[in-house]
Amino acid sequence: MAALGRFAAGRSVGYNHAFVKAAELNQIRLHDTLRNRLEPLEPVHKGEVRIYTCGPTVYDFAHIGNFRTFVFQDVLRRFLRSHGYRVLQVMNLTDVDDRIIQKSAAAGVSIREYTEKYIEAFLEDMRALNLEMPEEMVRATDHIEDMVTLIERLQQKGLTYTSEGSIYYRISKFPAYGKLSKIDLSGIKAGARVDNDRYEKDDARDFALWKAPKPGEHFWETRIGPGRPGWHIECSAMSMKYLGETLDIHTGGVDLTFPHHENEIAQSEAATGKPFARIWLHAEHLIIEGEKMSKSLGNFFTLRDLFAKGQKPSSIRFLLLSVPYRRQLNFTMEGLKQAENSVERLRNFVRRLKEEKFAGGENPAIHKRAEKAESDFDAGLADDLNTAVALAAVFDLVRDINTAMDRKEFRQQDAPRLIAAMEKFDAVLAVLVDDDHDKLRKLGFGAAQRQLPVEQIEALVEERQLAKKRRDFKRADEIRKQLADSGIILEDTKDGGVRWKQK
Ligand SMILES: [Zn+2]
Repeated sequence: MAALGRFAAGRSVGYNHAFVKAAELNQIRLHDTLRNRLEPLEPVHKGEVRIYTCGPTVYDFAHIGNFRTFVFQDVLRRFLRSHGYRVLQVMNLTDVDDRIIQKSAAAGVSIREYTEKYIEAFLEDMRALNLEMPEEMVRATDHIEDMVTLIERLQQKGLTYTSEGSIYYRISKFPAYGKLSKIDLSGIKAGARVDNDRYEKDDARDFALWKAPKPGEHFWETRIGPGRPGWHIECSAMSMKYLGETLDIHTGGVDLTFPHHENEIAQSEAATGKPFARIWLHAEHLIIEGEKMSKSLGNFFTLRDLFAKGQKPSSIRFLLLSVPYRRQLNFTMEGLKQAENSVERLRNFVRRLKEEKFAGGENPAIHKRAEKAESDFDAGLADDLNTAVALAAVFDLVRDINTAMDRKEFRQQDAPRLIAAMEKFDAVLAVLVDDDHDKLRKLGFGAAQRQLPVEQIEALVEERQLAKKRRDFKRADEIRKQLADSGIILEDTKDGGVRWKQK
């Protein structure tokens, strides 16, 4: 973890030669919050989409509502990549704010030490949900100098004032303020509190760029005085540092629209005179069983809370991505059960494709059907990431092909084509690999069950098949029970074989 401060994943995606094909495919359109309409995606740099994502404030575990937004962003980047784009995504880790300063002081450790375990936990959670790592994950505390430089630019343009050692942004100097959230600030009087800052400012709408240290607090000694950065300046400074002054896409949860993103626009556009982001995407709220998630209602879940209840990472990912991002998502235990079944359905389908023996040859109608599903899937996602349409394309295909198999219309040479289609879908969905148990075990959940090595499982399955052949059903049943005790379920396949899977 030591090197995390700013770790580059090496932009490992590489330059995808397939990007030239993007123009032939569906034009991607995304709903821009600022203009409140669908906009075609036209990246500043040909073939590359540059995305900034507001990351977590690392003073606690991220909750399931946060992960709704992170899963949506993962679907976005995976879809863009599958479409042939190179993606350059930056996510910040807010590792300095009022709560972090208070909590680390209370714990008697440095900010760095305090946030370390939550950053580690966040990365573990990301891996559990198969979230691809952004190309850059950057810590606020590693970018104090960049923030100071940006504040100086704003000072030189006369957009700031200092009060009791803190530096504020004077909103009245930026007439476009409010254009993203369409919020009417005319009714807010001086002295009213818009944000939670407990600092003196000329106008309630003004926000702190730099906060003077309070007694005993951690601070940085800089050219603009001692103190620490405000939250908003962090995102403006780090996004422009890595992505340029105009980003292609800025994403976040809908609750960040005001004041956070509004303030980012005010800071960035006033400093550069250029549009800050071409497209703003905001994920709607998640509610739990029809109610707002809150600690007092006892319906507040981190990912680990759900794992402890026996929920699988793949079910959670599937449920979170199944509702298009601009719709409110009602997260329910019943929905999780259905998501688990849906994932199981897809995995079983792929197993069937790989394991069942079909009559030789191929059926051109099957290939056509796969092609249609792929193009429906793409078209759904190209239409503002409509995952509901994309998933319908997948499940319709699974149903039709299962029917064709049952009717013996499916041929052996059709299987690779269908497997390729499922892999294409999974490049975005990322639920097919059956690794939930391994992931949970690594995180310390579900470790109670005794695990058998794969070779031993295979040997027992083989032995049971032989026992059945010689009609020794007693032995066959014993083996089935032994496997079941270790969490292994056996399923007979239609061609007389058997397959096993973990419960
Ligand atoms: Zn941000």
